[in-house]
Amino acid sequence: MWADTHCHLDTLTEQEISRAVSADVTRFAVAGVTGCTKEAETLAEHHEEVFLMAGIHPLYIDKTDKTALELVHQIAATQPKCVAIGEIGLDYFDKGVDRNRQKDFFRRQLEFADDLNLPVSIHLRRAFPDFLEIIKSTPAVTVVMHMYSGSAEFARQLQQVLPRVFFSFGGPAIRADARKTHSVLRILPFDRILVETDSPDLPPPGMSSPNVPSNLPRIGAGIAAILGMGIKDFEILTWNNAREVFQW
Ligand SMILES: [Zn+2]
Repeated sequence: MWADTHCHLDTLTEQEISRAVSADVTRFAVAGVTGCTKEAETLAEHHEEVFLMAGIHPLYIDKTDKTALELVHQIAATQPKCVAIGEIGLDYFDKGVDRNRQKDFFRRQLEFADDLNLPVSIHLRRAFPDFLEIIKSTPAVTVVMHMYSGSAEFARQLQQVLPRVFFSFGGPAIRADARKTHSVLRILPFDRILVETDSPDLPPPGMSSPNVPSNLPRIGAGIAAILGMGIKDFEILTWNNAREVFQW
């Protein structure tokens, strides 16, 4: 069985859940972008396979206010199917969003994770030094680098400061030209690797948009090939790693 450790199921049709389950994808962590949507909560209520994350994405902080942070904390503290804080982090690619405000939202949500003993799902683009500086202050938190696109060197640095850091990969990792990501995969300890779709975004090569969770086995097979590992072994490995992180 496969675990999709980061997706946006609440923006897809409900039938994608049964399609994915038929493809042996039987765990979903639905990432929050502006907190946690009612749609996501309803899906989690109706489907035992669906779990939630609550979080404010760095590029959405302007669309929220301080009460949104309180809501993230409240959902994370009280919703039984909420298994993580996410997606949170820093994104300096889009220059329109104030960096200090991004850092403030990120720090606050990391503190929630630390207090509530929940893992975090990290969105990070073009902000590696600031990210490292902030994340160092909560070394006990389990950190999942969602759709990791950094270097092997940065992955090593993260492992030095974070005893519980995991790296999650999706469609872009199995592109033939994704050499940087392939080199990261080859240096990571196997027990730190997760898979995800980030659907409806980032369909794997050869698949049309929108991306859907039933594409996950195809992504898994591609990554297993890069690692020179059997598909079944990789499936079991990533399933166990996901359970270790999300405790579902
Ligand atoms: Zn996402």
